[in-house]
Amino acid sequence: MDRIVEDWFVVREMDEGIVMIQEPGHVQSFLVLGQDRAALIDTGMGVADIRAAVEVVTDLPVQVLNTHWHFDHIGGNARFSRIGAASREASLVSTPLSNALLTRLYLAPCLADGVSFPEAFDPRSYEIKSPAPTLTLAGGDSIDLGDRQLAVMETPGHTRGSLSFLDSRTASLFSGDLVYNGTLYAHFTDSDIRAYEESLERLCDIQDRISGIYACHNEPLLPPEFLKSCLEAVTAAARGRTRSERVTDWGLPVLRHEFCSLAVLTPDRDSRGIDILSCKA
Ligand SMILES: [Zn+2]
Repeated sequence: MDRIVEDWFVVREMDEGIVMIQEPGHVQSFLVLGQDRAALIDTGMGVADIRAAVEVVTDLPVQVLNTHWHFDHIGGNARFSRIGAASREASLVSTPLSNALLTRLYLAPCLADGVSFPEAFDPRSYEIKSPAPTLTLAGGDSIDLGDRQLAVMETPGHTRGSLSFLDSRTASLFSGDLVYNGTLYAHFTDSDIRAYEESLERLCDIQDRISGIYACHNEPLLPPEFLKSCLEAVTAAARGRTRSERVTDWGLPVLRHEFCSLAVLTPDRDSRGIDILSCKA
């Protein structure tokens, strides 16, 4: 049964010791419970206290594991003392995000669309403090929760240091923003469409060892076969096999490639992509 916490989070048990903490319409973080400790995979946007949502579920010590540095995955990091992030993104994870930047990136479009936020949330003081990671992660590392382990996999593409995590108990994959059902983002300065393709190829190679994919946006749980759909879309975009159209993201031009039910964004021609920290292309 769903529990609503802080007038914002939907907390839902998905599988044995896997709890989704959803910010509906925005992003999903996942809590994985072991015998000795819990891992919180991403910490959401920071518009409400995600620690309160975690504490509704468990009083185990919590190790945060960030899939990547984007604001909607690290927003609650400052509420925890143990923060794990990719060694390749440690400096980005610890870069504070100002109210001016977050307003331009996210709040202004949301407020213009009539998106509602929790009553206690004040858009004028919204910022992300971004403490430095206490644990840096690389492919091949394993996070021991007691009676289950999370294997760390480097899956770059959406960002240069994006990580995925594979749970030893349920064979669930936590894919960050590499895999979800919607428009895939490969249009940032630190995105790499070829690396995206290679990451998906490596995951497709081990698809028979994956029981399901927990995605951070849109449908939270996808079948392993969905990896192939993403790979086909990204490959088509990477190799120019789709018709692309010029659209805008944050008012900046990008290319949108439609493929079956998915789409992929890549940088505009002659652009290195959108730089989130300066909001420029
Ligand atoms: Zn992202």
